[in-house]
Amino acid sequence: MSCVHLGHAATAPAQQAPSSGPAGICSLGDGPLRLMAVHAHPDDESSKGAATMAKYVREGVDVLVCTLTGGERGDILNKAMDRPEIRADLPGIRRAEMAAARDILGVRQRFLGFVDSGLPEGDPPPPLPDGCFALQPLEVAARPLVAAVREFRPHVMLSYDENGGYPHPDHIMTHRVSVEAFEAAADPDRYEGCGDPWQPLKLYYFVTFHRARFAALHEKMLEHGLESPYAERLADDPSGPPRPNWEITTYVPCSDYYGIRDQALLAHATQVDPDGFWFSCPVHIQREAWPTEDYHLARSLVDTEKPEGDLFAGIREKVRL
Ligand SMILES: [Zn+2]
Repeated sequence: MSCVHLGHAATAPAQQAPSSGPAGICSLGDGPLRLMAVHAHPDDESSKGAATMAKYVREGVDVLVCTLTGGERGDILNKAMDRPEIRADLPGIRRAEMAAARDILGVRQRFLGFVDSGLPEGDPPPPLPDGCFALQPLEVAARPLVAAVREFRPHVMLSYDENGGYPHPDHIMTHRVSVEAFEAAADPDRYEGCGDPWQPLKLYYFVTFHRARFAALHEKMLEHGLESPYAERLADDPSGPPRPNWEITTYVPCSDYYGIRDQALLAHATQVDPDGFWFSCPVHIQREAWPTEDYHLARSLVDTEKPEGDLFAGIREKVRL
């Protein structure tokens, strides 16, 4: 296989310089392996792919979370946190929560500076607020992410599918800017002034809340004589709105890190009810019933065999660590 295009390596000395290694194996820059997770709001990183990130960080992978908005329009979803002093500075509180979750997961994290669009509710829904992330032209919305990709030089990117995972306008926009950055970051003629070109090798979509997983958790809870919170969700599915059925191409074993994932989620105290849905299935049951976090490989510039058990399959052996 030939080397994939890595852009203007010669202009970025020391750290990259792709070259043919022994036996014609491409070197895709010096290590460590790098993983970038692109999210809409603070807390999304802890509810989608958090155990995966915790695992890779502890294996020496450099992980950067890019958070497109500050989550300024999020509701307070935890009654215990719904207090005047919290409401008075929700953006500041959410930044502090994000910092705590970041440290628990062990990742790096960066806000990309857009303003939360809020979740419009009503029929018809109200217009989105002026200046919010979802109303930005694509080139404006993608620019900070393209710059981050060129600076961090991820081998693998994670983001949402084209429906956003769920139909929040910021999640849909996050999908669009992720695809745009994946496709444009290597092109020296696009996004000038955003750094030297870099081509990530794989783009995955999170497949987190899928029926097979909920069914497995449900069965295992019943087996242990516990009341399952999933019955309604499973029963509703056939008549509910059609959900995209993404093929799971990649199952990342990470159940040892479910505890860390939950700690990170709890750090987003305004957004997560500790007695709510997220924590209704004991971790030991989750480990038995569904020990992986799951992904759909949406783009790949390397050869790989499906199903995969590693986000870096097809890449790992080509990077000089
Ligand atoms: Zn979100």
